[in-house]
Amino acid sequence: MYTALRLQRKLKRELRHGAVQVIVVDPEPYMTYQPFLPEAAAGSISPRHVVVPLRRVLGDCQVIIGEVTAIQHGKRTATIRTLATEEEGTGSIEVHYDELVLAPGSVSRTLPVPGLAETGIGFKTVEEAIGLRNHVLEQLDIASSTRDPDVRDSALTFVFVGGGYAGVEALGELEDMARYAVRYYHNIAPEDLKWILVEATNRILPEVGEEMGRYAVSELRSRNIDVRLETRLDSCQDRIAVLSDGSRFPTRTLVWTAGVKPSPILAATDLPLNDRGRLACTAALQVDGVEHAWAAGDAASVPDRTAAEPGAVCAPNAQHAVRQAKVLAENLLASLDGRPLSDYEHKYVGSVASLGLHRGVAHLYGRKAKGYPAWFMHRVYHLSRVPTFNRKARVLAEWILSGLFKREIVSLGSLENPRAEFKLAADTGRHPEAS
Ligand SMILES: Cc1cc2nc3c(=O)[nH]c(=O)nc-3n(C[C@H](O)[C@H](O)[C@H](O)COP(=O)(O)OP(=O)(O)OC[C@H]3O[C@@H](n4cnc5c(N)ncnc54)[C@H](O)[C@@H]3O)c2cc1C
Repeated sequence: MYTALRLQRKLKRELRHGAVQVIVVDPEPYMTYQPFLPEAAAGSISPRHVVVPLRRVLGDCQVIIGEVTAIQHGKRTATIRTLATEEEGTGSIEVHYDELVLAPGSVSRTLPVPGLAETGIGFKTVEEAIGLRNHVLEQLDIASSTRDPDVRDSALTFVFVGGGYAGVEALGELEDMARYAVRYYHNIAPEDLKWILVEATNRILPEVGEEMGRYAVSELRSRNIDVRLETRLDSCQDRIAVLSDGSRFPTRTLVWTAGVKPSPILAATDLPLNDRGRLACTAALQVDGVEHAWAAGDAASVPDRTAAEPGAVCAPNAQHAVRQAKVLAENLLASLDGRPLSDYEHKYVGSVASLGLHRGVAHLYGRKAKGYPAWFMHRVYHLSRVPTFNRKARVLAEWILSGLFKREIVSLGSLENPRAEFKLAADTGRHPEAS
């Protein structure tokens, strides 16, 4: 979206006269600002405001809602599956291009843990974040109404695997939200909830540095969250999470955020990948050794020109992705004009993470902060980064409103099955004796 935005701005006249066409393909009609997903899960921001509608911001581009299933760069052809092609049974359409910009990001990196594919949930999309919010609130309802102590215990146990941004922030925000919500349940006390964070290495949140990572562990533990370092999930069959330290937790909630891997579409192209499956790129964001192909973001392996060690590449995060996208657009235009290209260079400025309402940890521009100041920095930083003035204004308004009123604690899980009520009515209408 950022590359297309810049091309749209620089090629306004050409786009309007039809001399140039910019085609953006994405299965979703929006761009997701992923750092806001934990707050969306907690209910501090509504789901609509963590996404940016592509058609609204890319008015001069052609937006195709569909999934690229293959790219034959040798023939300059992308194969795209859309809802229409599926419905019509035509399979897919082919789009021909002159220049290719590939930025499909990453997907959850799963491991062959027994039961994971059947029971785990990821935390990369707005659907997953809202689904998880509804699920957690539903578990409180189950625990409150069951007479079976085993069901109650597993409903109130929440296991998160992976101590990066996604896992820690999602757990921090959801635990905070659930602890607040139980005040409205007559038979659940905050101490009845069991939250477990499982991390394979000896630290969490590597993005904020070692000292702040240690602080994050002690902050979470002070809230009774069971943080288990140097521990792995061995299996999660039959709703029982078994950890490598031998402990077993009956649970109905298993959130898997143990890293990402490049989007599978990369393997369906004729472009060169490195040993980690990312597109091997030059510092100018061209796919190495391939003409007219460009890449940025999590899918691209771009040399980190600011790192001391040779061969270092940029980490997959939004900080690099957004900046690379803008340099990429400038370089693409320069290459069309026959001008020299610039190399991408950005020194990582550190990071901020929220651990729940009014709690956070930050190591940004050399400054370390924890607690309320870090949480405040987190909000200011992300508000300044979320794209478009429209989204900034809406998010700010929501934060102000949620500061003035009580938190929303309703589960709208039934939204995921909107036809259920009508279907029941129609079925009982067909068999009136059943009503
Ligand atoms: C919960 C969470 C919190 C995070 N917090 C931070 C943070 O605080 N700071 C930070 O720097 N980073 C953070 N990150 C990481 C950051 O969000 C990513 O690094 C960044 O979004 C990568 O950008 P991208 O453009 O490469 O990929 P994405 O943002 O994932 O975009 C890829 C796009 O490509 C589309 N796509 C994928 N496959 C296809 C296909 N086959 N055909 C067509 N379209 C396709 C997808 O639908 C998507 O819209 C966080 C991530 C998560 C999940």
